[in-house]
Amino acid sequence: MALIVHKYGGTSMGSTERIANVARRVAKWARAGHQMVVVPSAMSGETNRLLALAKELAPGKPATPYYRELDMLASTGEQASSALLAIALQAEGMEAVSYAGWQVPIKTSSAYTKARIDSIDDQRVRADLNAGKVVIITGFQGVDEGGNITTLGRGGSDTSAVAVAAALKADECLIYTDVDGVYTTDPRIVPEARRLQTVSFEEMLEMASLGSKVLQIRSVEFAGKYKVPMRVLSSFTAWDIDITEEAKSGTLITFEEDDQMEQAVVSGIAFNRDEAKISVLGVPDKPGIAFQILGAVAEANIEVDMIIQNVSKDGKTDFSFTVHRNEYVRTVDLLKEKVAPALGATDVLGDPKICKVSIVGIGMRSHVGVASKMFRVLSEEGINIQMISTSEIKTSVVIDEKYMELAVRSLHRAFDLDQPIAA
Ligand code: ADP
Ligand code: ASP
Ligand code: MG
Repeated sequence: MALIVHKYGGTSMGSTERIANVARRVAKWARAGHQMVVVPSAMSGETNRLLALAKELAPGKPATPYYRELDMLASTGEQASSALLAIALQAEGMEAVSYAGWQVPIKTSSAYTKARIDSIDDQRVRADLNAGKVVIITGFQGVDEGGNITTLGRGGSDTSAVAVAAALKADECLIYTDVDGVYTTDPRIVPEARRLQTVSFEEMLEMASLGSKVLQIRSVEFAGKYKVPMRVLSSFTAWDIDITEEAKSGTLITFEEDDQMEQAVVSGIAFNRDEAKISVLGVPDKPGIAFQILGAVAEANIEVDMIIQNVSKDGKTDFSFTVHRNEYVRTVDLLKEKVAPALGATDVLGDPKICKVSIVGIGMRSHVGVASKMFRVLSEEGINIQMISTSEIKTSVVIDEKYMELAVRSLHRAFDLDQPIAA
C-alpha cells in the first residue's frame, strides 16, 4: 500500500463529466489499496472568470487591500471543484472528504496573490486516510498567520500538490494534466515536439522558470527540496486503463542523471511572452549606476530578470533590463518620474512586445558551441537578438515577440528535438 497524491488541472476538472471521470480514476487507485489524497484546480476558466469580475468593478490601479479580496475571490474556484469531486467520489461509493486550505491548515506567507507555503499540518489528513477516506485538498490556496485566505500565484495547484506530498511523505505525486507528459517544447506550438520519458529535476526547474507552464516553478522547487517523486501524465486516458501501465506513463522527474539524458545536449526549449524590455539611455558611466536604477526598481517590489549594460561612449552608457509585462507601465513611470531625472539620463525607452526563448539541457555543461549554434540558427532566420543570458545549463535570448514561434520551431529542428534519442 502506498500513499499517493493526485493533482488534476483545470481542464481535467472542466465539466461534471470530467469530474466524474476523475472520481472513477481516483476510486480505481483507492480500490487498488492506496491511500489517496487529491488536489484539484478550479474548473477551467473559473479563475479567469472570477478575476475578470473584480477587474470589471475596479478597472483602475488596484490598491493593496484589493489583493486580499482577490484571494478571497479566486480561492472559491478550488473550493467548488474540491467539493464537487468529493460528491462525485461519494456517488462512486467511496468515503471522501474535502478541505479548503485553511482547514488543513496549509499555512502561507501573507503575500496575497503570490503567497509561499510555510508549513502544512498533516494530522487531520492522516486521521482521515487512516479511517479509509479519500482526502481532497483545494489547490492554489492557504491561510496566513492572521487567518486570511491567500493564493499561491497562477498555476499554484501544482505547488499545493507537491507540498502536500512532501508533508505527508507520499510515495509519489502524480500531476494529471491535458497533455501526456513534459515535452521537448510546448506541443501546442510545435506539433513535432516529443514527450520526454524522464527529465532531470534541474532541467525541469529551468524549463519551468523560463516559461514552460506545464509545472509551476515552485512545485519543482518543492519536489527538489523534499525529493518528492513526481510524474506528469494525462488525465484524458480512459479512467479504467491498467493501473500499472498508468503508473509508468507520462514523464518522470528524476533526481539523478541517467544515460539517456546525458546523450541529449539540449533537452527542451522554453519560451516566455510575459516579459517587457526597458532601457535607460545616456546614463553617466560611473560607480553606483546599476544600483541607483535597479535599487529603485527593487524598492518598488518589481522583479528584474535579464540585465545588460552597454560599453560606455563619451562617459555615457545605456542600461537595459526586463521585467514582467504586468509591471511594465509601473516600471517605465517610476524610471521616468524619479530615476532618470536624478541620474541625468537622456531617455527611458520600453518595448513590451518582446519574448524570451531559451534552450535547456544538462548536456550543455560538457559541450561547447551550443550557444553559438543557437545564435546561428536565429540569424539564418533573420531574427535579431536583443539580449542574451546564459547559465551552465541554459541559454536565453530576448527577441521580437512576432518571431517567437519561428524561433522555437527552428531551434527545435536544429537541435534534433523532433528525432527520437538514439538508444
Ligand atoms: P493544468 O490546468 O493541468 O495545470 P496547464 O495549462 O497549466 O495545465 O499546463 C499544461 C499545458 O502546458 C499544456 O497544455 C501545454 O500547452 C503547456 N506546455 C508548455 N510547455 C510544455 C512542455 N514543455 N511540455 C508539455 N506541456 C507544455
Ligand atoms: N486555478 C488556479 C489558476 O488558474 C491555480 C491552478 O490551476 O493551478 O491559476
Ligand atoms: Mg497548471
